[in-house]
Amino acid sequence: MSAKEIKKNTHSASNWEQEFLEQGDAHITSAKVRYRCPKCESLLVLKEGANGAFWGCESYPVCNYTANNEAGKPVRAKRYLCPACEAPLRKKTFKDNTFWGCSSYPDCKVTVEDDNGVPSSTKKYPCRACGHYLVRKKSKNGYFWGCITYPKCTNTLNDNKGLPELKKKR
Ligand SMILES: [Zn+2]
Ligand SMILES: [Zn+2]
Ligand SMILES: [Zn+2]
Repeated sequence: MSAKEIKKNTHSASNWEQEFLEQGDAHITSAKVRYRCPKCESLLVLKEGANGAFWGCESYPVCNYTANNEAGKPVRAKRYLCPACEAPLRKKTFKDNTFWGCSSYPDCKVTVEDDNGVPSSTKKYPCRACGHYLVRKKSKNGYFWGCITYPKCTNTLNDNKGLPELKKKR
């Protein structure tokens, strides 16, 4: 609420509120915490993105600093890198599914399962077909392991309690 709005409502405010507002040095708006961009010192502004509110630099697009919004405070998102091409991963939401997608999309189509707000790309297993990695993914039929270079490599393995179930050669 701005100071103007508060003044408008003083007739309905309680006594202590009126007393407080009538103090000459009551700078209500200055109590609002302002956050500065650690990159360029401009102010951070709360923005509404496709995946919810986030903090962005006022100097955007000159400065592309962004931070997550946690309880009204900017919290710098930890950077997670794509296990295939090392570009940052971005958290995405599709329907009820949260996952991490490579920021070089569509050049790199890597997606990684979300594990409590963290990409579970730390769990990597070598792909026996191409030598890259397998990552745990979620489909409507449950979890499975797919190659990080999908669709180039379509190697998949079933998931067995969080681990890829290796196919036995007969
Ligand atoms: Zn900035
Ligand atoms: Zn990538
Ligand atoms: Zn592969």
